[in-house]
Amino acid sequence: MSDAAKPRIVAFANQKGGVGKTTTAVNLAAALAARHKVLVIDLDPQGNASTGLGIDRAQRKPGSYAMLLDGKLPADCIRATAIPNLSIIPADPDLAGAELELVDIEGRETRLRQALKGLTGYGWVMLDCPPSLGLLTLNALVAADSVLVPLQTEFYALEGVSQITQTIERVKRALNPALELEGIALTMFDRRNNLAEAVSADVRAHFGKAVFDTAIPRNVRVSEAPSHGLPVTVYDFRSPGAQAYVALAAELLRRHRQRLKANAG
Ligand code: ADP
Ligand code: MG
Repeated sequence: MSDAAKPRIVAFANQKGGVGKTTTAVNLAAALAARHKVLVIDLDPQGNASTGLGIDRAQRKPGSYAMLLDGKLPADCIRATAIPNLSIIPADPDLAGAELELVDIEGRETRLRQALKGLTGYGWVMLDCPPSLGLLTLNALVAADSVLVPLQTEFYALEGVSQITQTIERVKRALNPALELEGIALTMFDRRNNLAEAVSADVRAHFGKAVFDTAIPRNVRVSEAPSHGLPVTVYDFRSPGAQAYVALAAELLRRHRQRLKANAG
């Protein structure tokens, strides 16, 4: 895929907090940046993706709020990161009010799609969503070509999944018929825990091929990396967590190529 054409826009969504949305968006983006130009857009008022990619709190304006609500162009909001080929539109502090402010404005669900319309020069755009199914996540699902759903490999993994899958179906019917499921990624997989295998088998039985073969292991290096403002692939490339994200990126690209081929044939 050429990075000069329209990018593939992927929303990282799950209304549950703490399942690995941000971690997966940031580290998958960093792994993909070895081969493509990648843009992360932080749509979570908590700004974890911005922190994880080393953007100081004082340097986040203009960010995604300005783009969504002040009519700023993406180009005005993009920052370079320490990683070649990886840029970010950070979450500015004002984003905390966006969920409410969006309610009363025209085209409240399509603001992000409008803002990203002319964006070129990137192969992939990763939208890091907040842990809710409000207007920010809705904007992401409407602007996206696909959704990647991170699922924490724990006993309750499947609980609540129907909420996000139903939301995806609703968005497809009403606002974005072309929206695809990029895949479901199992995160924080703990090999020492017998339950993890059982949960993984359950999720795979339920969702079949939609689940990525690559599961992300629970790995302390993954949780340490954000405090250094770095993706784990840069913080400790040899760690199991980094290697898993490299493998997930390769799988994502492989599946994407297959999808393109199937659609063309
Ligand atoms: P979300 O964005 O869905 O709220 P995060 O990506 O912020 O979730 O992850 C929640 C917490 O779990 C964070 O503290 C993160 O560092 C940690 N975490 C995520 N993935 C892993 C992993 N593979 N190994 C260890 N810790 C992880
Ligand atoms: Mg997050």
